[in-house]
Amino acid sequence: MTLAQRVTRIQPSPSTAAAQRVRELRSDGVRIVDLTVGEPDFDTPEHVKTAAVEAIRRGDTKYTPVNGTPELRRAIAAKLARRHGLDVPLDRIAVGGGAKQVIFLALTATVDRGDEVIVPAPYWVSYPDMVLANDGTPVVVACPAERGFKLTADALRAAITPRTGWLVLNTPGNPTGASYTHAELGSLAEVLLDHPHVRVLTDEIYDEIRYEPGTAATLTQVEPRLADRVLITNGVSKTYAMTGWRIGYGAGAPDVVAAINKLQSQISSCPSSISQAAAVAALDGPQDFVEETVAVYRTRRDRTAKLIDAVPLLSCTPPDGGFYLFVDCAGTFGHRTPDGTAIRTDADFARYLLEAEQVAVIHGEAYGSPGYFRISFATSDEVLAEACTRIARACAALTQEPS
Ligand code: PLP
Repeated sequence: MTLAQRVTRIQPSPSTAAAQRVRELRSDGVRIVDLTVGEPDFDTPEHVKTAAVEAIRRGDTKYTPVNGTPELRRAIAAKLARRHGLDVPLDRIAVGGGAKQVIFLALTATVDRGDEVIVPAPYWVSYPDMVLANDGTPVVVACPAERGFKLTADALRAAITPRTGWLVLNTPGNPTGASYTHAELGSLAEVLLDHPHVRVLTDEIYDEIRYEPGTAATLTQVEPRLADRVLITNGVSKTYAMTGWRIGYGAGAPDVVAAINKLQSQISSCPSSISQAAAVAALDGPQDFVEETVAVYRTRRDRTAKLIDAVPLLSCTPPDGGFYLFVDCAGTFGHRTPDGTAIRTDADFARYLLEAEQVAVIHGEAYGSPGYFRISFATSDEVLAEACTRIARACAALTQEPS
């Protein structure tokens, strides 16, 4: 018995694998300072939990429509109107088990063998493997720090071929936090108008976790002529600390939305009725939780970025959004650890941090960008302070190799 090629050609998610490694070390009694976590350390807001309990008591415990309850799709449409001034009809919204599932289904629905999907790097770890799992070809476009880790119009134009099916745009991005401005989206839109066969999947899962004003633009708002080709994906996981509830959505491109619904009707029938009721409360209810948590993230971002940037051999700039720092560790290459091991890659450095100081981070190559590592600051001030002390100590213990 063999496994299907679509499974053997992909890797398990590196962030899930890192979390598993941390769990194993902890169960062996090792005290790990874990900076790999990609989810808020806050609890789901109380009114959201109450809405779920009420849904259970009311008996909302049955299958819902495949594309989500009308209440939830109305709440999603209201959010898109509030945030971007968009008017998205309810039949152009698909609700699924997390943004991750919606993105996967969008690719399953549209990608045939050999179709290309443009993925700007640094990228969220899952995009290339999702493309591969769906028989597509990821076309990774390097977007260096000098360009704010963002795709330029020229780089997009150069990457498009007759086989291009999608451009994936993640803003604010994981792992860098880079956010596209209105003007930057405008110049990408100009290129896209010249290539009507290319669809755009905008992953906006961190759209409410932003630190700079004026960076919440979305492509359809900037260029309404692209509306039928853009699928906005988002969800409640990060904004409302609801990662375990598994609710995400796709809005826009009508043919893709219809195809996602068709697939979902054969895969899961619908997302959880109870989680959908909770998501309505999150989107329609008071938004103080979002403001309060973003204020906390902002303080952690500023403090941690300053401490890390002050460490010789490392550098980082505070991100515009999200809750990650993408730290340049290329300065450690060509150094040796106290036990004589050479540091030549970001993976070597991440391994050294784990072994020498028990600090768990994710190396940049997992995001398609060697020379970096990712820190999540969705964790307490104490953990962050302890982590920075340990990382500084690890760097101070390195010695340069003779040239
Ligand atoms: N998109 C990005 C960029 C993410 O970082 C994540 C989670 O880490 C997701 C999507 C998945 O979100 P969800 O929990 O809604 O599946």
